[in-house]
Amino acid sequence: MMTTTLSMTFEQETNPWLAAEARFDQAAAELNLDDGMRKILSMPTRELTVYIPVQLDDGRLEVFTGYRVQHSIARGPAKGGIRYSPQVTLDEVRALASWMTWKCAVVNIPFGGAKGGVVCDPHVLSDSELERITRRYAAELMDIIGPERDIPAPDMNTNEQVMAWFMDTYSMHARHTVTAVVTGKPMDLGGSRGRAEATGRGCMLVTLKALRRFGLSPENCRVVVQGFGNVGGMAAKLMRRAGFKIVAIIEWDGAVYNPHGLDVEALLAHRKETGSIVDFPGGENIDRNEAMFLECEVLLPAATENAITSENAHRIRAKILCEGANGPTTPVADEILAEKRVFVLPDILANAGGVTVSYFEWVQDRQGFFWNEQLVNERLAEIMDSSFDAVVSYADKHRVNNRIAAYMLALDRVAFAIKLRGIYA
Ligand code: GLU
Repeated sequence: MMTTTLSMTFEQETNPWLAAEARFDQAAAELNLDDGMRKILSMPTRELTVYIPVQLDDGRLEVFTGYRVQHSIARGPAKGGIRYSPQVTLDEVRALASWMTWKCAVVNIPFGGAKGGVVCDPHVLSDSELERITRRYAAELMDIIGPERDIPAPDMNTNEQVMAWFMDTYSMHARHTVTAVVTGKPMDLGGSRGRAEATGRGCMLVTLKALRRFGLSPENCRVVVQGFGNVGGMAAKLMRRAGFKIVAIIEWDGAVYNPHGLDVEALLAHRKETGSIVDFPGGENIDRNEAMFLECEVLLPAATENAITSENAHRIRAKILCEGANGPTTPVADEILAEKRVFVLPDILANAGGVTVSYFEWVQDRQGFFWNEQLVNERLAEIMDSSFDAVVSYADKHRVNNRIAAYMLALDRVAFAIKLRGIYA
């Protein structure tokens, strides 16, 4: 059992599966989970690797590798997104699948956890190539997915359109339209109102709860956002509307800064027009490698894994860290942030708004009855608020940090479900 993670090498701390395991071990030890239950909870239920032959636009044949890992189905069907990236590895998908299990348990929705990935670079593929990859990948997963089995959703570099192709392919094989097989679909194909904003909205909601603990109001809160995609872009937009000052946005090709607060909607329009956030008239360009260390009340990493590691955690000058991305902080960085008394809103709580509204979408599809946006947002707020309270009171009660508290709460819920079900032999 690992009691401290400080002995991890840089390679170990930045391996997502080892990072997930380190937190799991700590939470399991705090809960005194017996060895057998630990074994069950730590291993995935099922892992599938598929090889996806695709004809490219120039006529060449290429074979892409795809994964789907179902980490747990103890509390309900497996649930989790699909990412397209050249960096996808089985270890990463496995870690992300386990995070989905814990995330769904933290917000207490009736799903297990899964994740999928295809090793490809969507930026060099045409739309029709992406469509062919998606359809063949969906067809290869046919036997293990379904509204009662495993429900994919968007993740990095996948979107509503990819979900529409996925749903159509599944439906063609099933010989009838099955909207509930994926979430994050376009609104005209059974998508939910509020789903596109949900992850960013969830980040804002838990940040608002954290502010109350510090006696802060949004108006006197400076926010630095890393990543300006679906999560970071939406969080920044909604937080600005709620009165926060978004002082910096960091992207892969640069960063922009305005101490009085950026006009996020104008910045989104500027990016749409020019293809980049840099040279925005309403702010100044700053060094993207330094922007994360600006003094601020809230730092919101919303890009990819390993943004905060042993190499830079000591330079963070935020009071609150709201993890919009999955796994942005390594276990070694956790210990450094704890020493610095940074209040961490861990990913499996902070970014759970997305999967929560995915759950609402699945419910609506199965009922064939759709809610208005106000109802979606009210129900999301109820879940995010009560989940924040549950995690923070668990942390206070057990004298652990928020991340370990969230893991403990989740492990406890999943272990309880497994005990109730018993082991089929
Ligand atoms: N990809 C998102 C996540 O990591 C959403 C998953 C879902 O809605 O199933 O939470």
